[in-house]
Amino acid sequence: MKRRVAIVTGGSRGIGRACAAELAARGADIVISYRNGREAAEETARLCRERGASVLLVRGDVGIEEDCAALVKAAIDAFGSVDILVNNAGITKDGLLMTMSGEDFEAVIDTNLKGSFFMMKAVSRPMLRSKYGRIVNISSVVGLMGNAGQANYAASKAGIIGLTKSFAKEVAKKGITVNAVAPGFIETDMTAALGEKAGADMGALIPLGEIGRPEDIASAVGFLAGEEAGYITGQVISVDGGMSIA
Ligand code: NAP
Repeated sequence: MKRRVAIVTGGSRGIGRACAAELAARGADIVISYRNGREAAEETARLCRERGASVLLVRGDVGIEEDCAALVKAAIDAFGSVDILVNNAGITKDGLLMTMSGEDFEAVIDTNLKGSFFMMKAVSRPMLRSKYGRIVNISSVVGLMGNAGQANYAASKAGIIGLTKSFAKEVAKKGITVNAVAPGFIETDMTAALGEKAGADMGALIPLGEIGRPEDIASAVGFLAGEEAGYITGQVISVDGGMSIA
């Protein structure tokens, strides 16, 4: 990879941290966005610097359009361009649909879906100007298959697939590719919150026989963000140990 500039939203931990480290190892400078976890973001920054990257940390909420615009501006002020966007920041607020509050539905849509929309909108001008861009949106196996107790999350992640395909068509002639990665069950804080038993139960349902690691997602993201993936756009790549074919 040539010296590129990559923004990774929610880069402070989990899948975002692994993506930032992967892109740094592939030669990109890294802008890490986080919402609360400054210390964790510092640790991601250290991992990226170890891999040769210059790093900028920016605090902000992807669910707020002004924060997304400020994040992109900060990246351009620091590094002169934005070449890669990984829309990774995400949350869950699980519950059965019949008892789910409107607030819990909206909170998940605001962060996961609107956040991805605001970020794509914010990078679109600089990417169009430079006639180059690689956007990778993190969806989920749940966006493809649905999941009881996660209607809000499934809707947000299915929505990300629609956003991905639509924006891919809008910018296809402008040197910009837009793809999604749909992780399965990956070992992070998000899934740790479900408890050890849920992890073990889930492992038994995965054709490859074990839950995934953040690095499994990061290698797919790194590939799609690279020069070599320039003929791939509007696609959803499942990285789920076969969950979506089980
Ligand atoms: P995680 O460990 O909970 O980390 C979430 C990250 O998102 C943190 O860096 C957090 O920042 C950031 N974040 C949350 N809300 C934000 C907001 N409003 N604005 C900015 N940043 C925000 O999650 P993960 O498991 O790595 O998941 C990363 C992505 O992969 C998510 O989109 C998730 O839906 C998706 N995914 C995960 C799995 C899985 O099994 N883990 C499966 C499929 C898809 P702070 O630390 O500062 O709060």
